[in-house]
Amino acid sequence: MMVDENSTGIWVIGEEKEGKLAPVTLELLTIGRQLADSLRQELVVVIIGHQLEHMSRLLVDYGPDKILLVAGEETRYFIPETYSEVLSALVEQRKPFAILFPATYDGRDVAARLAAKLGVGLAADCTDLKIDEAGRFVQVRPAFGGNLMAVIHQPTARPQLATLRPRMVKPNKSGRKVSPSVEYIKPRISAKPFTKSLLRTVREVAEESGNLDEAEVVIGVGRGIGSSENMRIVNHLATLLKAAIGGSRGVVDAGWLPHTQQIGLTGRVISPKMYMALGISGAVQHLVGVRTAKEIIAINKDPEAPIFKVATFGIVADMFSVIPLLAKELEPPAPQTT
Ligand SMILES: Cc1cc2nc3c(=O)[nH]c(=O)nc-3n(C[C@H](O)[C@H](O)[C@H](O)COP(=O)(O)OP(=O)(O)OC[C@H]3O[C@@H](n4cnc5c(N)ncnc54)[C@H](O)[C@@H]3O)c2cc1C
Repeated sequence: MMVDENSTGIWVIGEEKEGKLAPVTLELLTIGRQLADSLRQELVVVIIGHQLEHMSRLLVDYGPDKILLVAGEETRYFIPETYSEVLSALVEQRKPFAILFPATYDGRDVAARLAAKLGVGLAADCTDLKIDEAGRFVQVRPAFGGNLMAVIHQPTARPQLATLRPRMVKPNKSGRKVSPSVEYIKPRISAKPFTKSLLRTVREVAEESGNLDEAEVVIGVGRGIGSSENMRIVNHLATLLKAAIGGSRGVVDAGWLPHTQQIGLTGRVISPKMYMALGISGAVQHLVGVRTAKEIIAINKDPEAPIFKVATFGIVADMFSVIPLLAKELEPPAPQTT
């Protein structure tokens, strides 16, 4: 789709699962509101799913001008082919200027399919979206393994598509007094949009390790843990810290954590408030996944380990002597007996 001067509106594609709104939707609305205000365009949020009546109540405080709820039996389950077809029809009809997706598994999947359908580019995995001094919408993302930040602007094709990593902005209520309009749309799907059938849905295998995208504290486990049996002490620490557990590729390759929990270039990119790296050397491919963590605490017995170059706090020690001390400090006091 080439440049169309009539393309207008910042669209946020929200994420909903089993009736719950993913927090990243509110982050996208916060940044979307800033973009829409700077460009004097309207902010539209689109949610695709099944029963969505309660969604507008959850979205309204975050400043959308319009809420589009695409609800129907056809979109009850997340099927990327269906979702991208629904979106592509809406986009062709309404011609937005830019579309923001969350850089989650689902968001990435649909964004890439939509870009291909529309014949436009996609700035994937952005860490910032803003209007530059020249008034252009620019997308910022790490490039070359995180060694430089690329600033991307698309002068011709519309809409401009971007995925934004979770936790890049704090969700902010807009304080606007204007009520958004709410529109219900029936999904329109062609007779045979895809060749797969959904037989059943399964939950992520690593549920007990927590959600790496949403957790404020993440413990990263490296090969220094030595064996899967030793994960026990990490699990205990994670419970005390209310942390999710991820790990290096070394640990995933060893089978001590499932692939869903791998952090880094070929795994997940996370942005927790605190990342605690236990027995992780800090290879560049791992660090790409944690460079936007607010604080990094590293425990490693090698004082030369590269992880210490990026750590806010570093402890040079054997993790097996430090973790029990930390756990003891964090454990709630035993009830007093009289
Ligand atoms: C194309 C490509 C993609 C990759 N993608 C990823 C990726 O997505 N994610 C990723 O993590 N890696 C990735 N890697 C692999 C990466 O290069 C490293 O090999 C990997 O991150 C190392 O994992 P590690 O730090 O757990 O292990 P190691 O490098 O073996 O480090 C173990 C660390 O534990 C410390 N240690 C040992 N015992 C203890 C103890 N008792 N107490 C405290 N410290 C201890 C050691 O001093 C050492 O620093 C990729 C590599 C390539 C080539």
